[in-house]
Amino acid sequence: MTRLKIKEILKTGKTGTKTLAKGWVRTKRGSKNVNFIALNDGSTIHNLQVVADTGKFDEQLLREINTGAALAVEGTLAESQGTGQNVELMAEKIELLGKADPEKYPIQPKKHTLEFLRENAHLRFRTNTFGAVFRIRHAMAFAIHKYFNEKGFYYLHTPIITASDAEGAGQMFRVSTLDAVNPPLTEDGKPDYSKDFFGRPTNLTVSGQLEGELGALALGEIYTFGPTFRAENSNTTRHLAEFWMIEPEMAFYDLKDNMDLAEEFLKYLINYALEHCIDDLNFLADRLKQEEKNKPQDQRSMDLVEKLQFVLNSEFVRITYTEAIEILKNSNPYKKNKFQFPVDWGVDLQSEHERFLVEKHFKCPVILTDYPRDIKAFYMKQNDDDKTVRAMDVLFPQIGEIIGGSQREEVLEKLEARMKEMDIPAEEMWWYLDTRRFGSVVHSGFGLGFERFVQFVTGMGNIRDVIAFPRTPKNAEF
Ligand code: ATP
Ligand code: MN
Repeated sequence: MTRLKIKEILKTGKTGTKTLAKGWVRTKRGSKNVNFIALNDGSTIHNLQVVADTGKFDEQLLREINTGAALAVEGTLAESQGTGQNVELMAEKIELLGKADPEKYPIQPKKHTLEFLRENAHLRFRTNTFGAVFRIRHAMAFAIHKYFNEKGFYYLHTPIITASDAEGAGQMFRVSTLDAVNPPLTEDGKPDYSKDFFGRPTNLTVSGQLEGELGALALGEIYTFGPTFRAENSNTTRHLAEFWMIEPEMAFYDLKDNMDLAEEFLKYLINYALEHCIDDLNFLADRLKQEEKNKPQDQRSMDLVEKLQFVLNSEFVRITYTEAIEILKNSNPYKKNKFQFPVDWGVDLQSEHERFLVEKHFKCPVILTDYPRDIKAFYMKQNDDDKTVRAMDVLFPQIGEIIGGSQREEVLEKLEARMKEMDIPAEEMWWYLDTRRFGSVVHSGFGLGFERFVQFVTGMGNIRDVIAFPRTPKNAEF
């Protein structure tokens, strides 16, 4: 008999048909005469209820059907007696594929904290919460490719190992095959990178953007979707040392086109989640409601599904950084000294400011543009005021910055001047500057942090809970 996935069985299974299911036991309960086994195979948040009459099966076998054990169950589908499902499986043959000692198996059917599950990240996929999160994460990754493919963007694989450190000076992970204890030395006693694998210092990439621009200025519209690495020591609920980023880069797009794309893209993904992941979203929404029960009414957040629908239907507010500073300076928390970080034209906005704008002031996603050039990267298009650049950050409720992007400086002289001011060695970037020497055009792009987006869609508060095996300072287990 061929196995059917539990998702299929629950959706299309007909009473009276013989069926084979395989999966892991979530719970077993019952009486002397009958056992109810909740079986899950990862295909859906819902379990298949297996009904096993005690008399029909070996005592030892039944004793070994514990939470976490793997089973193959053959039987006949019957109308369900009130499990919330249409059908249940009346077992005729049960094979114990893999035992799970109840004394030792850590994921018992009770409420575990997310911290505990993080320490057991190798097994946490077997919980409802993480099953839902990783199915949604998959659906979002798929929808990203679908969206760009439909729009005629090409998926460009930019390198993970790079020799340019123009962006993240001091925050990169070095890639080297030199002996860490006794590296070959140059005459002045420094590690001799000419003897290293690539004959020069190399790092893990912090962004595929610069290479992405090279692709866009020939292929038209490209996107990258790959791992990025930042050795920043920020132990927050929104930062990972290894995270995934989606970076579209488009020729002939100005800042407005860039904002339009970002807004349409985010809404496409949210709509896809609502259309394809509603069971998992409903489960996570309930979970959040439980979690917030103890909070005072005014601190509770919007229902997860309502929140997604709300963002889908709202028009993102677009204002300049300068306007945002005005709003912040006139705000209550500012006047009452409630902000931890200063607000002044020229400072980088902190998460508390971004969240005030989004959650309290506008109550919807906000796109901030035209930031002071001194707090932004060298490649951003300079405005005529000599003070600001055509940057855009998309700010989301609960998350803060979810997208960072800009129109790029396409004028060679301006780009070179800015690089000089910022001490960025132009010689090493000759290949980047060549795009401005030959057939330079207006172009734009942005980076969406994949995990931050998955956090938003799933409502998970900690970024460590939306990536399979998080990499954070002092943590690389599994
Ligand atoms: P932040 O100020 O929040 O650290 P950033 O300005 O460093 O962000 P960018 O360099 O613009 O961010 O990166 C683009 C996007 O990548 C961000 O909008 C965010 O969604 C995501 N991102 C940045 N750093 C991290 C990180 N350490 N972990 C996870 N996602 C990140
Ligand atoms: Mn950062």
